[in-house]
Amino acid sequence: MTYQSLEQQHTAGVYPKRDLTLVRGKDATLWDDQGREYIDCASNQGVSTLGHGNEAVARAIYEQALTLLNCSEIFYNDRRAQFLDALCAVLPAPLQRAFLCNSGAEAVEAAIKFARLSTGRPNIVATVRGFHGRTLGALSATYEPKYREPFQPLVPGFSHAPYNKLDALAEAVTDQTAAVLIEPVQGEGGVHPATIEYLRGAREICDARGALLILDEVQTGFGRTGKWFACEHSDVTPDLLAMGKAIGGGVPMGAVGIRDTVRNLAPGAHGSTFGGNPLACAAGLASLAEMKRLDIPRLAAEKGAYFMERLEEVNVPIVREVRGLGLLIGIELKTKVAPYLRALQAEGVIALPAGLNVLRFLPPAVITHQQIDIVAEKTAKVLAG
Ligand SMILES: *Cc1c(COP(=O)(O)O)cnc(C)c1O
Repeated sequence: MTYQSLEQQHTAGVYPKRDLTLVRGKDATLWDDQGREYIDCASNQGVSTLGHGNEAVARAIYEQALTLLNCSEIFYNDRRAQFLDALCAVLPAPLQRAFLCNSGAEAVEAAIKFARLSTGRPNIVATVRGFHGRTLGALSATYEPKYREPFQPLVPGFSHAPYNKLDALAEAVTDQTAAVLIEPVQGEGGVHPATIEYLRGAREICDARGALLILDEVQTGFGRTGKWFACEHSDVTPDLLAMGKAIGGGVPMGAVGIRDTVRNLAPGAHGSTFGGNPLACAAGLASLAEMKRLDIPRLAAEKGAYFMERLEEVNVPIVREVRGLGLLIGIELKTKVAPYLRALQAEGVIALPAGLNVLRFLPPAVITHQQIDIVAEKTAKVLAG
């Protein structure tokens, strides 16, 4: 029996699957079970920013697994203390605390709960095309009707204002708004970067109305956009900053950065069995050290600019626009993206969709210029049809 039919027999069936069994990775290269090689321009939706098979991270995981895998947050732990310190050192300076959890959606859930707890207000204003995860609270903030509708009733108190429109946001935020929740670049929603004015304006609206600003940097954090966090492009500091994906160097982890404007976080207010476990903290600590050593934000800025240039040269009629920030790049097509993703895979390039008609590239920051050249060439070939 093949791995595909074995998995197909037992999987829940909720994922659209590609006809590909991946078994190994190194840096920005992946191999399938037939030994075929692929250039990774998906990074597991942004997880593998450091690339696959990073030895320092692997060693830290191995050593921590032998030492102490689990340690409930009712106790202190050496690795957790070190990780929190290292994390707060890369966060924008006013964020000096963090809550640790196990995924992006959990980070968003925690941020929503903290905002309600802090302000005593019920409502969350999210954005049209926003994506924040699949758990019921995060899903209530997510816009896409096909993700939401089968699961009604969702959590009350959520609304969606058009993205990058300050007038609409000013109208949506009231004295009952606990928080505004924004992605600095909408990833799943089609690779739409926020304008600097929009993020700065959102900060001002929140301050004027006594609401908190939550930035969802689950996809944009840890160097992806050319800065440690995408909010640094506009010098806007949120009250709560949701993280996930790349934070643990590939090990499941999430976190919320917390500013001292967030109140009422008392013992017993929130928790997670696996949150802050030493394994994830060791992986996160080693990843942060590697990201600093390799200067991942600079690599993402430099390679993102190069990649964007190469993609802008792809001069074919079905391309509407190339846009993005750092190594989070989208090509909006005038047509559906699915057949082109399959064609790219056949050419040895793994990319992602972002909505129905945007081709999304988010490679590991260790992708080489030569690999970028190959990806641009293959993209030009498949889009030319
Ligand atoms: C992926 C993602 C999430 C959800 O993260 P999970 O780890 O899948 O729960 C939330 N917000 C954004 C912006 C994301 O890209």
